[in-house]
Amino acid sequence: MGSDCLFCRIVAGEIPATIVRETDTTLAFRDISPKAPVHVLVIPKEHYADVATLGQGDPGLAGELLAAAAVVAEDEGLLGDGYRLMFNTGAYGGQEVFHVHAHVLGGAPLGPMICR
Ligand code: 5GP
Ligand code: ZN
Repeated sequence: MGSDCLFCRIVAGEIPATIVRETDTTLAFRDISPKAPVHVLVIPKEHYADVATLGQGDPGLAGELLAAAAVVAEDEGLLGDGYRLMFNTGAYGGQEVFHVHAHVLGGAPLGPMICR
């Protein structure tokens, strides 16, 4: 994928991001337009379009992504009050960037899961 994908470019260091955690296989950085006091995106460094493709293509890496998200939530102080972990998937899911990313959202009550 590479140069066509925004998040691959962040992994490559071509686009700046505020990185909060990095492992060999994952990267976590602050969302550029935060929807909550804490809003971190956690991605695999390898390109997968969405969580379904990742989960079926490399379940081990999907597990590493979940583990990284859990550490981010802990590091951001979210464990006590709780938080939301979200994967928007496809058009109806509101996905805008087609490199799989977990949204870690917290720091205040987040309201209902879906606003109509
Ligand atoms: P999606 O709608 O695909 O689930 O979420 C994409 C997220 O990426 C949005 O919350 C959006 O604010 C964030 N985003 C888009 N462009 C950038 C960027 O260049 N840098 C960072 N850090 N976040 C971005
Ligand atoms: Zn990508």
